[in-house]
Amino acid sequence: MCAGPGAPEYALLGTGNQLTFHALGRAIIQEPTCAEGKSEVIKIDPYKTSQRCPKCGTVRKENRHHDIHEYICDNCGYRSNDDRIGAMNIQMLGMLWLSGDEKPSIKKLTTAE
Ligand SMILES: [Zn+2]
Repeated sequence: MCAGPGAPEYALLGTGNQLTFHALGRAIIQEPTCAEGKSEVIKIDPYKTSQRCPKCGTVRKENRHHDIHEYICDNCGYRSNDDRIGAMNIQMLGMLWLSGDEKPSIKKLTTAE
């Protein structure tokens, strides 16, 4: 088991403050149980993960609307919560890593200009 109630990442989530990718990464790295178990922890570069449309691959900073916490793709119309978009892109980077890419990046996932 990687973590339970009271583990650092749960404590951070419960504060009501925004949990940045940097803080989350730090919390995960400080959790030794995961690294010692069968699960593998990989550090993903969060660069542009909230700016890439997971449907068509367009990367555009202006598509992320901080004021309404949404990403609205101006190429294909895909629309979702901006943090969800970030999570979807991080998952895709993880899939690239699982397929053998040692340094997955948003650039490799981008299909539209
Ligand atoms: Zn799109």
